[in-house]
Amino acid sequence: MNEEVLELLFQAGRIAARVKERAYSLVKEGVKLIEICEAVEMMIESEGGKPAFPCNVCVDEVAAHYSPLPDDQTTVPPNALVKVDLGVHIDGYIVDTAVSVSLSKEKQPLVTVAEEALRAAVKFIRAGTRLGEIGAVIQNTIQKAGFKPIKNLTGHEILRYNLHGGASIPNIAIPDVRRVTKGAVYAIEPFVSFANSAGEVVNADTSTIFRLDSKKAPVMKLKPEERALVEYINESFKGLPYSPRWLYASKVSDPLSIHEKLVKTGRVHKYPVLIEKKRQPVAQAEHTVYVEEDGCKILT
Ligand code: MN
Ligand code: MN
Repeated sequence: MNEEVLELLFQAGRIAARVKERAYSLVKEGVKLIEICEAVEMMIESEGGKPAFPCNVCVDEVAAHYSPLPDDQTTVPPNALVKVDLGVHIDGYIVDTAVSVSLSKEKQPLVTVAEEALRAAVKFIRAGTRLGEIGAVIQNTIQKAGFKPIKNLTGHEILRYNLHGGASIPNIAIPDVRRVTKGAVYAIEPFVSFANSAGEVVNADTSTIFRLDSKKAPVMKLKPEERALVEYINESFKGLPYSPRWLYASKVSDPLSIHEKLVKTGRVHKYPVLIEKKRQPVAQAEHTVYVEEDGCKILT
């Protein structure tokens, strides 16, 4: 990566860090999830970035991929453990970061341990580190504290306009001997649950986040309004995940029902909401890092 590109990435990181800092105070009992999410997305824009994906606001056993739909009236319940996961991009250079806020004393240790596991992984990672070893560091930190990592959620390499590009960073020890490369960008994100959880997530039957592969040719004949919406999605999000909330900005009338048709016919990729298999609460901590010869720089 050249200097200019690196500066865009660092700039996206500074925006994400500032927005994340302010996200903590938005999480209060009774607040609508959509308010938290729209406030975060608006802050990203006003700081000069663009959301790299819809802000996720996930409560308790909902581990990931929940971003409120336009009519969502859900509020933060009492004693909730809330995860706010946000992404910022500038010209396709993406950072991804998340925090957990516990309104319950009992669930707070999950948050503390997720942050501790993230710190341990960040301290460990450098050019040449094996991917499986990072997973081991995360798993050991979590298990030593008496908790369980979510084994089927991972961190990921980030490429330009590609949030989950390249390698995955496991949250458990697996025999992946591939190595972290110098100059690469990775999101590291431990997920932690109680020892009596399943330690894994399953798909819920709903999806709130979608993605359209801009390089994929239309697989069927589209009606004019469908074509207009596909073009809008391609031009606006360039293959990055989006929320149906964002489709009102298109000039297409009734974009949500047209979008639903595109989803039903498989034109659009959907991300199912992910929930802990035994419905146990899950905490998450996440940073995006830039890997150097003898360590890494936290961008977020
Ligand atoms: Mn994230
Ligand atoms: Mn991520």
